[in-house]
Amino acid sequence: MEVIIKPWHGIPREKIKWHPTVDESKCVGCGMCVTGCGRKVYGFDYEKKKPVVLRPNNCMVACVTCANTCLRDAISFPPVENVREMIRKEKLLGRTMEELKERMEELKA
Ligand code: SF4
Ligand code: SF4
Repeated sequence: MEVIIKPWHGIPREKIKWHPTVDESKCVGCGMCVTGCGRKVYGFDYEKKKPVVLRPNNCMVACVTCANTCLRDAISFPPVENVREMIRKEKLLGRTMEELKERMEELKA
């Protein structure tokens, strides 16, 4: 499955610092984060039996699904307030309204 990474509301994805970090001292190598991510962010190191963040920019901005499903609490993210601050600073809500109209047109088609 190919994952196509687009700019996030017009901002190049590589300019947004949002991706998981795994605390290997807590991780038991269950693989839930790897198989549960639909965007192929993780690989897996079979020698160490730990997930590896291979494609950090594939991570959906502000998604924390893998952290929520890790029973060991081994995954962390930057504060979500950083993303909210970026939304305010870059005035993304105006852009969102335009995107919303386009999305609604697509859904009608
Ligand atoms: S879900 Fe948590 S414990 Fe399981 S492999 Fe991922 S980080 Fe490790
Ligand atoms: S936060 Fe979501 S998109 Fe990002 S690595 Fe975890 S499950 Fe994948």
